[in-house]
Amino acid sequence: MTEKTHEFQAEVAKLLHIVAHSLYSETEIFLRELVSNASDACDRLRYAALTAPELAAGDTDYRVRLTVDPEAKTLTIEDNGIGMSEEDMIENLGTIARSGTSHFVDQLTGDAAKDVSVIGQFGVGFYSSFMVADKVEVTSLKAGESQAHVWTSEGHGSYTIGDADRPGRGTKIVLHIKKEAEEYLDPSRLRNIVKRYADHIALPVVLVGDDDGAEDEVLNTASALWTRPKQDITDEQYTEFYHHTGQAFDSPWLTLHSKVEGVLEYTMLLFIPESQPFDLFSPERKSALKLYVKRVFITDECEELVPPYLRFLKGVVDSEDLPLNVSREMLQNNPVLRKIRSGLVKKVIGELEKRAKKDTEGFQKFWDNFGAVLKEGIYEDGELGDRLLKLSLFKSTNGTDYTSLEGYVERMKEGQQSIYYITGDDLDALRKSPQIEGFRAKGIEVLLLADPVDSFWLSRINEFDGKAFKSVTRGSAELDSLDDAEGEDKKSEDNTDNLDLLIAAFKDALSERVKDVRISNRLTDSPVCLVADDGDMDMHLEKVLKAHKQLGGMASQRILEINPNHGLMKKLQVRAEAGGASDLLKDAAELLLDQAFIIEGEQISDPVAFSRRMADFMAQGIA
Ligand code: ADP
Ligand code: MG
Repeated sequence: MTEKTHEFQAEVAKLLHIVAHSLYSETEIFLRELVSNASDACDRLRYAALTAPELAAGDTDYRVRLTVDPEAKTLTIEDNGIGMSEEDMIENLGTIARSGTSHFVDQLTGDAAKDVSVIGQFGVGFYSSFMVADKVEVTSLKAGESQAHVWTSEGHGSYTIGDADRPGRGTKIVLHIKKEAEEYLDPSRLRNIVKRYADHIALPVVLVGDDDGAEDEVLNTASALWTRPKQDITDEQYTEFYHHTGQAFDSPWLTLHSKVEGVLEYTMLLFIPESQPFDLFSPERKSALKLYVKRVFITDECEELVPPYLRFLKGVVDSEDLPLNVSREMLQNNPVLRKIRSGLVKKVIGELEKRAKKDTEGFQKFWDNFGAVLKEGIYEDGELGDRLLKLSLFKSTNGTDYTSLEGYVERMKEGQQSIYYITGDDLDALRKSPQIEGFRAKGIEVLLLADPVDSFWLSRINEFDGKAFKSVTRGSAELDSLDDAEGEDKKSEDNTDNLDLLIAAFKDALSERVKDVRISNRLTDSPVCLVADDGDMDMHLEKVLKAHKQLGGMASQRILEINPNHGLMKKLQVRAEAGGASDLLKDAAELLLDQAFIIEGEQISDPVAFSRRMADFMAQGIA
């Protein structure tokens, strides 16, 4: 018999070491993982057999069988699913195949306490066998093939694969149970675990009888969870199903179970996670929702089922109307699917709207996780974008809480026509932006938009409730037309008229670097800031587009605004009037412009010149 030894991929070896030294207090989850894999393997065969019935070869009685051998101290988990070839074994049981998982393994440190929390976020699947077994044998015959193989490992560094005999198709996993895990040889313990973790599995999990006369016993309910009436399903069962179907390990923030009857008939059991999945912002923007047709699993890669802005949804949709032999290609532009999608999206948004009203705090938690994704729908969904905008939450200069746009509009000052906002990468930096000082002083609220997606929807959506969106970093600030905040007596218009010489000197010095230099009415404390001209692109949007290489080399020139009430400007104006200070004024202009760039988080063009000028100024300041 040929037998080959293979090394585990480095990440797997690392993972196995940690798993075997049992981080988990709940070692029982190994059974959930193995039963879940067996069920997936049956689902996959059932789907393949729709178009190639010979693969199932008459044996369509899908099930998982558990056998205990108390003498040999083994627990065997066996299925008649799709099975694995030799290559499948190498690929699936020797490497970490699931995308993103190796990223988690990289974070493992060997420090048990830290590692548990990392592992808790992704689960260890098949490798959890080694929590309870010191040797694992996997014998498998792939559907449609004639040679079976056996994979064997003790979980240290390497495994072997050799030829094997196996009467029927499918996979048999023999666990040689460790001394300290012998509880898993006890039928009542197994009964318990299956009930707890695998009751929702749609196929029977059978405990095989023994020589002493015990009969075969089906341990679970063995009907697809979503087909059962809501009132018969407990929260725990929903959560377990969510773990199984969503490859998730947290609890659902929202569970949405609904059967639709009418022209079309379908059932959806959807979940919104309580925490953010690690691949949420990966560029593919893929959904993991599973499509079933009359209880048969079809695919979990159905782009047509949900729009990308709802890609955080987990769960299943089961249709009665699609043909059972539907191929994945047929799903494209399928009118039935399009209707299901539209119904599903409306249902989810409707539910979110309800939640936002009923449970503000809970909704904010959802928003922290998925708001940035949902906002993609504001400009991608022509039909429901408005409802999404209304549902959206924003940070603003009005305290630290979230506000809705409706809330903002209610607080608008008399005479205020527009909804003011500022975009950037970082909320804290936005709060300190010089461009919002004047708005703050006048008690005008400014939305602080720090998600990259904000720049995109703002470039498409012009208004909310008849009020235009206006960037505070663009154009003239229109602040003068608005009343001052109550009780605030402003000292604005003071010396605006006698800075002419200074402005002229600044314009002269900076003519190559800025479009204009002018007096600002939006600054109260900072000496200067940059703004975009009325017709030019918003400064942050331009930065985002440049980062995405969606913009050629040409950047628009900015306008430098100066604060007429700042002590520095007054002193510089005095020097300008006295004459003979052109070098000083030029250096001051350059320094202030560089500072304005730094505040915007931009590179300054000549850091050496900047620091020389800075040092010269400091030297002059020290008497
Ligand atoms: P996951 O189930 O998340 O993919 P696992 O570690 O649980 O990760 O399993 C790894 C892979 O091994 C599975 O994706 C599957 O391809 C294969 N596998 C595991 N168990 C079985 C089985 N009983 N029958 C067929 N393939 C299996
Ligand atoms: Mg698995």
